[in-house]
Amino acid sequence: MSDRYSQVVNAPVVSTVAKQLGLPQPVELDRYKAGAPVVSGRVLSGAAPGGRLGRALSAFLDQVKAERAGTEGPAKALLFDATGIADSSELVELQRFFYPAVGRLQRSGRIVVLGTPPAEAGSPRAATAQRALEGFTRSLGKEVGGKGSTAQLVLVEPGAEDELASTLRFLLSPRSAYVSGQVVRIGPAVAAAPGIDWDQPLAGKLMLVTGASRGIGEAIATTLRRDGAELVLLDVPALSADLKAVAQRLEAETIELDITAEDAPAQIAERLSGGVDVVVHNAGVTRDRTIAKMPEERWSSLMEINLSSEERINDELLDRQLLRPNGRIVCVSSMSGIAGNSGQTNYATSKAGVIGMVEAMAPELAKRKATINAVAPGFIETQMTAAMPIAPREAGRRLSSLSQGGLPVDVAETIAWLASPASTGVNGNTVRVCGQNLLGA
Ligand code: NAP
Repeated sequence: MSDRYSQVVNAPVVSTVAKQLGLPQPVELDRYKAGAPVVSGRVLSGAAPGGRLGRALSAFLDQVKAERAGTEGPAKALLFDATGIADSSELVELQRFFYPAVGRLQRSGRIVVLGTPPAEAGSPRAATAQRALEGFTRSLGKEVGGKGSTAQLVLVEPGAEDELASTLRFLLSPRSAYVSGQVVRIGPAVAAAPGIDWDQPLAGKLMLVTGASRGIGEAIATTLRRDGAELVLLDVPALSADLKAVAQRLEAETIELDITAEDAPAQIAERLSGGVDVVVHNAGVTRDRTIAKMPEERWSSLMEINLSSEERINDELLDRQLLRPNGRIVCVSSMSGIAGNSGQTNYATSKAGVIGMVEAMAPELAKRKATINAVAPGFIETQMTAAMPIAPREAGRRLSSLSQGGLPVDVAETIAWLASPASTGVNGNTVRVCGQNLLGA
């Protein structure tokens, strides 16, 4: 779906006028290309005194063969270990590192600040200072977004120092093009994940993707396949031809059924009777109306598709012990489930429920050596958003730090990170893929 505004406002001559008028000028975001390094440029790293991640970060930068930045010159990524900050008076360490560094950040640059979950910081003073990192990082995302750059906060639980690799590979690379202003929590590994092939991290893993015949679901399937996964793709029988075409391209198997059917969980479980590594709950619908005009059928049919069927499928697969060790459940929520949206009480309820499901099930999944997480897309360029009236469509695109809509592949890359066997310390998170949209931020 073309973003005409971006094309026009960045054209020669118009660009100068747009700058003078202060209009948003979205830059073209770097996106992952096969064979590209994790960071296409130099990495500038720093730490507050007393940080506990120095060894792990240095090992990570060696592993990805990152070129280190010196005291001058451009940097593609800024990495700061803030775990040593134990008092509000020490927050000035952020200013000391970023004041001279941020001007060196290149376009589509990456910033990652690492901290400790406040509840585990050890004292009220330390918890206060660690909580403060969120305001800093979110503001930084808004300051650098105009250059297509992003900023995230990664909270590393004590004991999870060796679980950083898959998350940093994602957040420092162009794979996270449309993710900004997020707080990601990493805990100890739920399962061992030895010997990852970082070019094909999903090789040998069987994955179910629902709603896979088009849009975001098709992009998810394509990206998971690129990373080596074997796929089972599901969609409604009415989309049989589209589903088959996607499946043929990706050498995948198909399941044609309505996930709300009474026997759907059992049918899916039977097709996955040998076990499954990753379940991606992507199928979803909107049935917009304000609550004053919302018939019960419109409410209930949406809730069945977007939330209740996912709960039933999860229960069936878990009851039959079909989710394999180091398994994953990844759900597609929505920014509406966080921010709310007029005319979407039913949709936002279902998508907030998805987040609730993720948070409630994470401890149980960890006991089973598996994880559950969600992504919450904002404005993504799909057929659905192309059909919106122009005013809300333009608002959806521009009211974000990156001043543009995301692409289905941006959601897919985020899911591929969460699905990776190396993301074994990432559990119970909901990560927005919204370009740091201002709604619900
Ligand atoms: P889409 O193009 O409508 O694709 C969703 C797919 O799920 C369709 O093929 C749809 O088939 C299928 N589906 C619907 N009900 C089903 C059922 N009962 N059983 C099996 N399959 C069913 O939507 P999309 O834009 O790619 O969105 C994918 C997910 O992202 C959804 O969960 C959506 O809520 C979420 N999301 C999207 C955006 C965005 O900007 N596009 C933003 C936030 C969140 P039908 O033809 O029957 O509907």
